[in-house]
Amino acid sequence: MDETLTPVHVLVRSPDLSLPSRALTLAPDFTLRRLKLSLLLPQTLALDSLYFSLNGKPLPDSSTLASAAGGGGGGVLDLTLRLRLRGGGGDGGATGAESRDCYLNMYATKKPDKVDPNETRLSKWTTCALSGEPLAHPAVVDRLGNLFNKEALIEALLHKKLPKEFKHIRGLKDLIPIHLDSIPGATTDAETKFQCPITGLEFNGKYSFFAVRGCGHVLSAKALKEVKSTSCLVCHKEFSDSDKIVINGSAEEVKLLRAMMEEERGRVKERKEKKAGACLSGTKHAADEKGDVLDNGKKDSNGKRFRALDIAPANATKEVYASIFTSSKKSDFKETFSCRSLPLGRN
Ligand SMILES: [Zn+2]
Repeated sequence: MDETLTPVHVLVRSPDLSLPSRALTLAPDFTLRRLKLSLLLPQTLALDSLYFSLNGKPLPDSSTLASAAGGGGGGVLDLTLRLRLRGGGGDGGATGAESRDCYLNMYATKKPDKVDPNETRLSKWTTCALSGEPLAHPAVVDRLGNLFNKEALIEALLHKKLPKEFKHIRGLKDLIPIHLDSIPGATTDAETKFQCPITGLEFNGKYSFFAVRGCGHVLSAKALKEVKSTSCLVCHKEFSDSDKIVINGSAEEVKLLRAMMEEERGRVKERKEKKAGACLSGTKHAADEKGDVLDNGKKDSNGKRFRALDIAPANATKEVYASIFTSSKKSDFKETFSCRSLPLGRN
């Protein structure tokens, strides 16, 4: 088997954080950084204050699971999530008083609503949820409010390499292209590059934002609240409440979006099934192989039945076009379910 495609079984222990161990099965090209993000750690922990180690050896965030596993294959990658001890030497030589709790408190902020030193949150707003690259045009949002660079997401979709957490993205129809309003003069290495086009609030995780499905404009909740409107404040396209996708929403908000997505999928499926049912019980599209009656545009014995031919598009062959309107022609051809899917006139 090709090792580069084999999913990696990962066990994550985090004794420093007093979190339960997690067992996961992930794509081999999943990076450790991504793994950190996917563990849904407390928002109060900065990503940089954590690192993974394997057999006591620290691993860089950029390594993939495959490289961490070292091609060992088969077994379980037993990772330990550790708190980085900053300053003080970190080898225990500092003072005995520095218990684990000290470090935990050091990296924990008590007021998550205040100015945010927290990289976890900022990175969700400034980087692609898949590639970790800085968010840039063209960007998309999924149905649950995650932000992506379009290219990275499409690439992953095409190669079927979407991590489990993004399995709800089934195809292009689940991507909503968004227009992010750039902050004028923001340099490429600026932490926050986008803003609300109405209020100027920065797109940095401190404020709530919505993407409007349909037009893709990204607006702050504040703008939408203050200017009560059922049309987009930028392009004036009408939208309903269900067209608003909260970006990087809370667990509750994501749950709601997911429910909406599933409900909509259910409706679409139902519609399709109804349609298919109607097709099977209703009109037949039997194309008659021997049907030469339509050659030269002559009307057959059924006369006016084929009047539509007169307005057939120039590039449609008459047989094909006529077969759409032919509902009762007798044919030796035995119709089966699989035959139906053949292009008209070829069975
Ligand atoms: Zn708009």
